[in-house]
Amino acid sequence: MQAAFITGHGGNEVVSVGQRPKPVRQAGHVLVRLHAATLNRVDIYMRDSGAGITHQLPQIMGLDGAGTVEEADANDPVLRPGQAVVLHPAIGCGRCEFCLRGEVVLCVAVQYLGEHRDGTLAQWVSVPAPNVFPMPAGLSFTEAAALGVNHLTAWRMLFTKAQLKPWETVLIFGIGGGVSLAALQLARLAGARAIVTSRDPAKLERARLLGADHLIDSSTQDVAKAVLAATNGRGVDVVIENVGAAVWSAAMKSLVRGGRLVTCGATTGDQPPADLRRIFIRQLQILGSTLGNFDEFRDLLNLVARTGLRPIIDSEFSLDQTHAALDRLESGAQFGKVAIRLD
Ligand SMILES: [Zn+2]
Repeated sequence: MQAAFITGHGGNEVVSVGQRPKPVRQAGHVLVRLHAATLNRVDIYMRDSGAGITHQLPQIMGLDGAGTVEEADANDPVLRPGQAVVLHPAIGCGRCEFCLRGEVVLCVAVQYLGEHRDGTLAQWVSVPAPNVFPMPAGLSFTEAAALGVNHLTAWRMLFTKAQLKPWETVLIFGIGGGVSLAALQLARLAGARAIVTSRDPAKLERARLLGADHLIDSSTQDVAKAVLAATNGRGVDVVIENVGAAVWSAAMKSLVRGGRLVTCGATTGDQPPADLRRIFIRQLQILGSTLGNFDEFRDLLNLVARTGLRPIIDSEFSLDQTHAALDRLESGAQFGKVAIRLD
């Protein structure tokens, strides 16, 4: 089958598009004919180094994906051949204390598609049946694929970790990125007020059209001061953050007393000053989050089916254009998801 896979670590020269063996389905798994996937920052990380992530080369790239069931167990209670489905990318061991609690994202032996095992930039993938969910009607395969990482991550950050309420205000850094845009869409659906930042005025304007209530141009404005000005000096209840060191200080200073900061990334550095005095005196909560569990994904898909929420797609490429797609993601110029069509 055709696939995009890494053969080493470096730049695009280690990313090949060519033939890989079609996966053989085992009992309890589902063979999915993929129609679309989207790129995530971790795809670039796997290409560049993959340090700290156990994997074998060559390895097929891609975490999220949507397609149709080609083959499933005959007695599967939900899935039938030809059914449109979307994938959850975390495969747990099923036996550790975290898996038993339903926390696949905390599994001690978790394997992510495209990180620890072959991923979704391929014509087919075979995954355990619990990772395969019926696709909400009304979405394209590309839009559905985009839900599997970014929207799931934003869902867990906003609703499970931060417990965002409709009357609260959330600050979202770096609007334009996949998680940030997903957080904006979900926060608005939940009725919360959203303040967004970007260094790009055009991205801010597009965020306004998506319902952002207040825009901060971080290339010309002091974010913390702008947040306080926009909230009558109070600060925001929740900060959604995946930028890391470059915005940490501004994020902490933007929080109301007792506020919650949720972080899921650190692209600009992972060792900012902790500002402990501010944390304990103002009783701030710092919450870490990664992806989301099966039940959270099911809730997200139900919300999508009911509300018609559609992820923002920046651009679509063919599998042969994977290098160009990776360049687009790396440029930081995108607004929404960079997608790969697989049909
Ligand atoms: Zn486990």
